[in-house]
Amino acid sequence: MFAKILLTVAVVAFIWFGFKYLGRRAELRRREPGQRVPPPPPGSDHAETMVECRVCGTWQPGRTARSCGRSDCPY
Ligand SMILES: [Zn+2]
Repeated sequence: MFAKILLTVAVVAFIWFGFKYLGRRAELRRREPGQRVPPPPPGSDHAETMVECRVCGTWQPGRTARSCGRSDCPY
């Protein structure tokens, strides 16, 4: 009878610590930098890198840089 209670307690403790261990591992994985790039916060489009046109000297956001119309414009 006593052994049965002890076994039950052991099983419960095993499951409890197992869940704690898995939860901590998942949290560590979530915090690990570089694995997943967090999505940029809303409204941060203005913070993107700007590129300068060598020919006309205008600054444009790197992702949406467009040609200024000159034939030797790199964009
Ligand atoms: Zn240009």
